[in-house]
Amino acid sequence: MPVDKALWKATFPPLAPLIERIGDIARYDRFEYIRLKRWSSGHVAVIGDAAHAIPPNIGQGAGCAMMNALSLAVFLERGDDIPTQLGEWERAERPLTNHTQRISLLFGMPAFWPPKARELFYWLAARSRWLTDQRTRTARHVPTGT
Ligand SMILES: Cc1cc2nc3c(=O)[nH]c(=O)nc-3n(C[C@H](O)[C@H](O)[C@H](O)COP(=O)(O)OP(=O)(O)OC[C@H]3O[C@@H](n4cnc5c(N)ncnc54)[C@H](O)[C@@H]3O)c2cc1C
Repeated sequence: MPVDKALWKATFPPLAPLIERIGDIARYDRFEYIRLKRWSSGHVAVIGDAAHAIPPNIGQGAGCAMMNALSLAVFLERGDDIPTQLGEWERAERPLTNHTQRISLLFGMPAFWPPKARELFYWLAARSRWLTDQRTRTARHVPTGT
């Protein structure tokens, strides 16, 4: 902040009216996340944000939704007993989604810290190989079924 409106408008001309409305004071909203006790019951499964909404701090919510939908189909093809297959699917796929939620929450926390502490966190996070590995694990994952 302040946003370089001229640059953004030149880069995305159709969005110019929206970019023009951006004020000088930055604001960040708290996003909710959803964690279910289980992703399925009987023959019913819940997928996408309804099962595991993820704050968009690392941009992986739709990625997880698509990966889990594809793997759901893969696991259902592997056996005839649907409740059993749904259980196998969750056991295999959920750990990565849980990890994604945890890391996303971690990267969102500094948004509400004092500016200096926030800057320090992101400065360190950008330089930490371990944190970078954690943050990019979802993006580097080869989805089941591909
Ligand atoms: C600001 C922001 C940035 C993001 N950036 C990224 C990113 O860079 N990368 C990424 O992977 N993910 C990102 N995400 C997350 C991503 O948008 C979601 O994880 C994804 O859209 C979830 O898809 P979904 O189909 O599960 O749910 P949704 O996209 O929410 O779809 C649910 C649909 O159901 C409809 N609906 C709701 N109730 C009813 C009803 N009663 N009857 C009929 N229809 C209904 C809704 O209108 C909606 O169309 C971001 C999210 C936000 C908020």
